[in-house]
Amino acid sequence: MSRYCSQCGKSLKACICKWIQSLTSNVELVILQHHSETNRPMGTARILKLSLANSHCFEGEDFSQHQQLNELLSDKQFHHFVLYPGEGALAHTQVASKLAEGRKIRVILLDGTWKKAYKMWQLSTNLHSLPLIRLPDDLQGNYRIRKAPTDNSLSTVEAGYHILSLLEPHNDFLPMIDAFNQMIEFQIQQMPPGVFEKNYLSE
Ligand SMILES: [Zn+2]
Repeated sequence: MSRYCSQCGKSLKACICKWIQSLTSNVELVILQHHSETNRPMGTARILKLSLANSHCFEGEDFSQHQQLNELLSDKQFHHFVLYPGEGALAHTQVASKLAEGRKIRVILLDGTWKKAYKMWQLSTNLHSLPLIRLPDDLQGNYRIRKAPTDNSLSTVEAGYHILSLLEPHNDFLPMIDAFNQMIEFQIQQMPPGVFEKNYLSE
């Protein structure tokens, strides 16, 4: 018998499926996951993927020749945006107005540390022609587990939660954050006393 959950891919003991709620969004998320993230115990992209049936998740680093991604991008029914804080990035309100006009929208998220996300962005030249969208500056991350380069650095599930909530304010995406918090609590409980404080709270 497998020791791993076939749905979330985590060990049966650490399975997160019991905390996952199926949610529906109009905006589709496309998660590009750096391959170093795939097996991280705290990888949070899986919460997005499991919660949202219409989301897509691909693994790699250079996605410029990624066939499935390029097929999605060539679907002209959709407007594609990359959630990335580059120059000229649009505020969510500008994108929300397109949604209100009935346009179909996909948001591409880069899942990895700040450095890895930058690498993916640089290599994946097929993303460079797409408009960028950014989150407001004042959002605070709750990710106590990951060391963040700045205080407001968000985990991927938080970034996904915020962008969906901003674009679809009438939908409740909080169950994703609840699942995230449960996962963090579980991980902390698994650590020997002192390890969490030593390794994960401020450098
Ligand atoms: Zn599971």
